[in-house]
Amino acid sequence: MKIAFIGLGNMGGGMAANLVKAGHDVRAFDLSEAALAAAKEAGCETFDTAREACASAEAVVTMLPNGQIVKQVYWDDVIGHAPEGAVMLDCSTIDVETAREVIEVTEAHNYDMVDAPVSGGIAAANAGTLTFMVGGSEKAFKRAEPILAAMGKAVIHAGDAGNGQAAKICNNMLLAIQMIGTAEAFAMAEKLGLDAQTFYDISSVSSGQCWSMTSYCPVPGVGPESPADRDYAPGFAAALMVKDLRLAIEAAEKAGAKTEMGSHAKAIYEAFADEHGGLDFSGIIRTL
Ligand code: NAD
Repeated sequence: MKIAFIGLGNMGGGMAANLVKAGHDVRAFDLSEAALAAAKEAGCETFDTAREACASAEAVVTMLPNGQIVKQVYWDDVIGHAPEGAVMLDCSTIDVETAREVIEVTEAHNYDMVDAPVSGGIAAANAGTLTFMVGGSEKAFKRAEPILAAMGKAVIHAGDAGNGQAAKICNNMLLAIQMIGTAEAFAMAEKLGLDAQTFYDISSVSSGQCWSMTSYCPVPGVGPESPADRDYAPGFAAALMVKDLRLAIEAAEKAGAKTEMGSHAKAIYEAFADEHGGLDFSGIIRTL
């Protein structure tokens, strides 16, 4: 397929390269010259504007920093510039409300569109092992699925427009709470004279077991290799966790959902990211 790809940063660069590997004709655009040069190296055709990249595209994939930019790119350069009937896939992490608005407007212009945010970081984007949580109509999902499958290991339909973003922020709010809890437990175990490895051996087969412990342990040298073993180089940077927690709490407030732990996790990560935004989010254990 001819696929326009807009936003070739840390995540989009690897994702576009995987579409090329799957045999697609990828028409790439980014504001950054360096990102465009890397995309060209990976086999994409590069363009000077997003509009040119979209012209003649059968599908458009976007991987951009935030909702405001996503909206601007769709309003200015995608809608009315991509051929009628094209399918649109926004893989950025943005607020639920904007995701729903963009899909409503693109569909009013005879496009199909899904929100398809990802779980997995830069390594998964490069390896083609992302998980996509997808919101949109059955028809839009069916069209988007094979394109997403070329960039990931799992593609899950979460329901109507915006539900991909809803799944993403609920998941990441839970992850933030779980990581802080895991870090607190390890720090307290140490203060009580309990060796970290011994606590891991016990808790990893007991009811405290969770992903933050057994797949991404915040203690160096314990559990499988994780950012803790690389001095907390990300991984998933604390600044990105703050972004997702802000989206989560904003959505919770609008929906009237009670998220006391989520709000507390947001405050804790905001304070951490002020100084250590570039560190992996599991580095929160250093503050304990
Ligand atoms: P990034 O900043 O590395 O990449 C964003 C790219 O968009 C940049 O290359 C930038 O030049 C480009 N861009 C910005 N405005 C543009 C415009 N108007 N037109 C064209 N290009 C434009 O960010 P990233 O880490 O690749 O993240 C992208 C999205 O994926 C974000 O929404 C982020 O929250 C989400 N995400 C990131 C990770 C991660 O680990 N990095 C994990 C999951 C989800």
